[in-house]
Amino acid sequence: MSLMLTFFCLLPEYSFSPPPAPAYTLGKVVIDAGHGGHDSGCLGSKFKEKDIALNIALALGKMIEEQFPDVKVIYTRKKDVFVELHERASIANTAKADLFISIHCNSACFYDKKKRKEMCNKETQGAETWVMGLHKTEANLEVSKRENEVVLLEKDYTRQYDGFDPNSPEANIIFSLYQNAFLDQSLKMASYVQQEFKEINRNNRGVKQAGFLVLYKTSMPSILIETGFLSHPAEELYLGSEKGQKEITQAVFKAFRSYKKAMEFGLSRQEPKAQEKEVQQKKSETDSVKERPQVKENPSVKEVQPQKENTPVKPQEKPAEIVETPRDVPLFGVQFLLSKVSLKKNDPAFKGIKDVMEEFDNGFYKYTSGRIRSLDDAVTLQMMLRESGFPDAFVVAYLNDKRISLKEARQMLVNSN
Ligand SMILES: [Zn+2]
Repeated sequence: MSLMLTFFCLLPEYSFSPPPAPAYTLGKVVIDAGHGGHDSGCLGSKFKEKDIALNIALALGKMIEEQFPDVKVIYTRKKDVFVELHERASIANTAKADLFISIHCNSACFYDKKKRKEMCNKETQGAETWVMGLHKTEANLEVSKRENEVVLLEKDYTRQYDGFDPNSPEANIIFSLYQNAFLDQSLKMASYVQQEFKEINRNNRGVKQAGFLVLYKTSMPSILIETGFLSHPAEELYLGSEKGQKEITQAVFKAFRSYKKAMEFGLSRQEPKAQEKEVQQKKSETDSVKERPQVKENPSVKEVQPQKENTPVKPQEKPAEIVETPRDVPLFGVQFLLSKVSLKKNDPAFKGIKDVMEEFDNGFYKYTSGRIRSLDDAVTLQMMLRESGFPDAFVVAYLNDKRISLKEARQMLVNSN
């Protein structure tokens, strides 16, 4: 007995310690089947986007649940129902999910105003995966525009999406303020998906960036997969078939497995290469911090707009007519910065702007200046802020400290006169 004790004591301590737990575990994934209910999404000659997306989403979730019992799978819809875009993101944010995967189908059709009919390019085919960012080409803008247009079916869209109005030519300006804290992780997952699509001989259209409202609102690594074109006759049949849906599901599952492993253990089987130059370019533009941790967002890393070289011109004076928050009248301010972390009043990111107010909304800290009764003065303030190094500053409206849409505020001004 004593011999045995000695033997045990001689063993190095670590022989008995359990293997180190990963610093990060991917415990929750949200699977978002695009469209649903009265929003069919893209239409093929036989199949609808909403049905294909739901089939793949449910099959993918089931596969993850079976193979990774520790991972909680959350669906934004499990039936043929309409879910607003912000609600989809909100489901993911409330659940504090680690990954958001949105499933869609593409179409190369557009409405020709001159010919007054829909024109389709029946040759365009293949799969592509999107991450949130600014579009670099008109073609990329078109895809996000089509996916964002669904908000027109929602009641309160300008308020829900920071004044976003798909009908406005300036609609996409809100995305230029966006700082993607999860760009690296999102790109990693997107690249894995495209690699797997290549493995099953799908036409690889690459990883792309544009402003998708559903991704704009999520606060975790997020991707949107356009699984193929319903406007391509053969691809439509593939997307609608059991075989096609099974192959796509397996490909996305394998990508999920690789991503999970890479994130948890830093074991990347092969560093995915971003497949489009524009993505690389965008990355270097937005990466204010070069070495990002592989695990979740490091709270000490600030995600703010990169400083410009030239010294900013400070707004000289506040516009006239600033009042002490009167009740029941619309007030205007200017939003000029968005951040994933709360910033101190004297943060250099504010470039010396005083009178900064912070609002927290759905995972973002929004910074505004001014609470002004006159819309004209707010526009002047917007101009001054734009000249002070915030080229994307835009006017926002409030009623009793709550955001309202500019349209509502304007209407109230008209009614009061
Ligand atoms: Zn879609």
